Amino acid sequence: MAVQKMVTSPLKKYELPPLPYAPGDLEPHISEEQLSLHHDKHHQGYVTGANANLDKLEKARQEGSDLDMKALLKELSFNIGGHVLHSLFWPNMAPAGKGGGGTPGGNLADRIDHEWGSFDRFKAEFSKTASSVEGSGWAALAYCTMTDRPMIMQIEKHNTNVYPTFQILMVLDVWEHAYYVDYRNNRGQFVDAFWNVVNWDEVDRRLEKL
Ligand code: MN
Repeated sequence: MAVQKMVTSPLKKYELPPLPYAPGDLEPHISEEQLSLHHDKHHQGYVTGANANLDKLEKARQEGSDLDMKALLKELSFNIGGHVLHSLFWPNMAPAGKGGGGTPGGNLADRIDHEWGSFDRFKAEFSKTASSVEGSGWAALAYCTMTDRPMIMQIEKHNTNVYPTFQILMVLDVWEHAYYVDYRNNRGQFVDAFWNVVNWDEVDRRLEKL
């Protein structure tokens, strides 16, 4: 994207993207109550938080006042991470049997086979990554353009252990807020259910865009 030379418009804020399907469409794997809470409350919370962080920066600049940059940027990284990852998460799912589930095709299938030897091996490693996040976090399938290899990433919180600038192709949220309504403390059951709603076409599109 070209950077505008003369910027006169108001500074943009983050916005909650709408879900790309109805909140009940991922049932029975993710319930309407679970998905609505997750999107409307939790994702919204990161959008609100990131905008509040930006407001704080803006206010201090206007007043010429001092800021605790270390604390503020730590919060901003957390909130932006949360917003970006959730924004990737919703569209990399689709209703089971209507774009969701099955196995990958296209270039993505070739890349997975080349890296992991089989889809089943990839699936096992990704599931293990998700199940073993210490505390709150994510499993992600990322792509390294330096080596031309897909790589699994285990993100703690929303922003720790990230490989900077690697394109993220697919994410799975394993914060308790992502599954507690449906699966209580059984994160493994939620991880298993996720495979029924993966939107492989969208994951492949992200790879093709690189
Ligand atoms: Mn979440």
